[in-house]
Amino acid sequence: MSRAGAELSILFSPGCVQLLQEEVLVQGPKVLVTGATGLLGRAVCREFQAGGWTVVGTGYRRARPRFLYCDLTDEDGVRRLLHQFKPDLIVHCAAERRPDVVERLADATVQLNVNATGTLAKEAALCGALLLYISTDYVFDGRNPPYGEDDAPNPLNMYGRSKLEGEREVLRHCPGSVILRVPVLFGEVESVAESAVTSLWLKVQEGTEDSCLLDHCYQRFPTDTRDVAAVCRKLAERAKQLTEQPAGSAPRPINCQLNCSRLELLNLSVQPKPFMSAITDCLWPFTPDKRWRQTVFH
Ligand code: NAP
Repeated sequence: MSRAGAELSILFSPGCVQLLQEEVLVQGPKVLVTGATGLLGRAVCREFQAGGWTVVGTGYRRARPRFLYCDLTDEDGVRRLLHQFKPDLIVHCAAERRPDVVERLADATVQLNVNATGTLAKEAALCGALLLYISTDYVFDGRNPPYGEDDAPNPLNMYGRSKLEGEREVLRHCPGSVILRVPVLFGEVESVAESAVTSLWLKVQEGTEDSCLLDHCYQRFPTDTRDVAAVCRKLAERAKQLTEQPAGSAPRPINCQLNCSRLELLNLSVQPKPFMSAITDCLWPFTPDKRWRQTVFH
């Protein structure tokens, strides 16, 4: 990493990562992106870098040389990474997301999609980082679209079940986290087969001159990874604005409007006074120029 762009130097040694804080002049907020070598993670890293964040991306088999190696199923490694980098935000993209592979490698999938997510959530809660967990539309069974946040999930396959379990781990260990369910993705691919959307193009190429065989049963809603990445950054920045407290002050709720419906049922005949006239009455004794009342509010 260049000194101009970021303030952390990164040392690699086999199987472990060391981050050394060089200078105290941390400029942007810090984000840790898991799955940074993947289809979505790459776009997320680019988006946060362009937005002035200090970004550390982790990968696994494809990690080096551009990203940090971290096996997320290694709890100690994850702990070390978070304690050393101390991110403000974690965007958790890493997962096994190929449904057929998941059916074959069920145990390894649970390790990554569920247990590693639980570890990250615990560590995020400990270090006070906001956790943004990328989930999937496959938590639903597809029988009654469109789905909202409050609709009951009912995954049809192991992949969907593991991502739903991941969501539950996140909420159990790190309340206040953000869960973003996304549909099938496409974007800047390393090979055409990397995305289920661009791989259709392969099938078209493989067909004869005027026909190729594709199923038209499933309806999908392809989404550009750059759009998802932009949503991640803007969500994080919005959450940060909402949660930032002046130094040394106690945390306060953002909006704790009270629902008065039960009180209203009692019909106590108390008409609330309009705020403008009520506050004018309160301040009236303190106004040096009593004409203020007329000039300002009437
Ligand atoms: P992807 O391209 O398959 O990338 C998976 C990432 O996980 C890679 O960076 C991989 O690292 C990393 N990984 C695998 N095993 C790991 C381990 N043991 N420790 C640490 N990292 C490990 O996935 P994606 O398409 O970017 O998906 C991102 C997220 O979006 C996932 O949570 C997925 O469930 C969700 N999603 C994706 C789609 C889609 O169409 N792609 C649709 C809906 C939801 P290496 O490659 O370096 O090994």
